Amino acid sequence: MSARDSQVKRMADLLREGATMLSQACPECKTPLFRLSSGEVVCPGCSKRVLFAKPSETSKVAAQAVVASSLEDVLIEKISEIQSALQASRDISEVERYVRVISSLFELLEKVRGSKR
Ligand SMILES: [Zn+2]
Repeated sequence: MSARDSQVKRMADLLREGATMLSQACPECKTPLFRLSSGEVVCPGCSKRVLFAKPSETSKVAAQAVVASSLEDVLIEKISEIQSALQASRDISEVERYVRVISSLFELLEKVRGSKR
């Protein structure tokens, strides 16, 4: 099993456990972050807890999203659409397929964001 496959599996496991995928990606490995039902934010890529420094960090991200390009908006919209379908799905292979698509969309999103710097 490749590293990427096990990462997808971890993401699917997190979703089955009731975690919510966030629109932010891990600053280290660019994997989408997940918020657990306990409120902790984790990265399925590095398997560690991610702490947001201050509540203001989150609002800064939200402010950046407002000025984001339209392509970025479309990608985020797609991700949240697929996320809803994913959360309603009870079929494991379907869940893994959705997670893969979301994972690719996040990669594209990071490229779009990176190209603006
Ligand atoms: Zn990470």
